[in-house]
Amino acid sequence: MYLPFDALDEATPFDCCVIGAGAAGITVAMTLAQQGHRVLLCEGGEASFSERSQALYRGENVGDTYLPLESARLRYLGGSTNHWGGVCRPLDAIDFTARPRRLRRAAPGDPAGRASWRR
Ligand SMILES: Cc1cc2nc3c(=O)[nH]c(=O)nc-3n(C[C@H](O)[C@H](O)[C@H](O)COP(=O)(O)OP(=O)(O)OC[C@H]3O[C@@H](n4cnc5c(N)ncnc54)[C@H](O)[C@@H]3O)c2cc1C
Repeated sequence: MYLPFDALDEATPFDCCVIGAGAAGITVAMTLAQQGHRVLLCEGGEASFSERSQALYRGENVGDTYLPLESARLRYLGGSTNHWGGVCRPLDAIDFTARPRRLRRAAPGDPAGRASWRR
């Protein structure tokens, strides 16, 4: 069920709250719901693109070179998947290795990495 935030009934109990309805948030929320949890998925943007919501993504990139934040990320339902060019490819081996400069531990898809993320 889709509700604007101010229509939420404070008395309704939820087991979990997931913030952000992009690829990651929707996947986590659906997985939890399929396990029988009552899930509240909170999306900061609206159901479709709006300048007002997107303006909150304005910012400066520092460090690694990247596209401008306000155009590379999308702040509404579905998140940056609304930019997708239709590419779905398997993960590479490097995605499961620890990269000290960026990640302190291996990604959770790796069995050893998963164990460390549960701690
Ligand atoms: C041009 C472009 C093309 C791409 N094409 C592909 C492709 O073809 N295939 C592919 O696999 N990947 C593609 N990607 C990468 C892919 O889009 C991203 O990796 C993916 O969408 C990231 O998902 P996410 O859920 O982590 O984050 P996001 O998609 O950024 O989702 C974050 C969500 O959180 C919401 N949010 C933000 N702040 C708040 C807040 N304070 N409270 C509540 N909600 C909030 C946002 O509105 C958004 O809905 C592309 C990326 C770009 C830029």
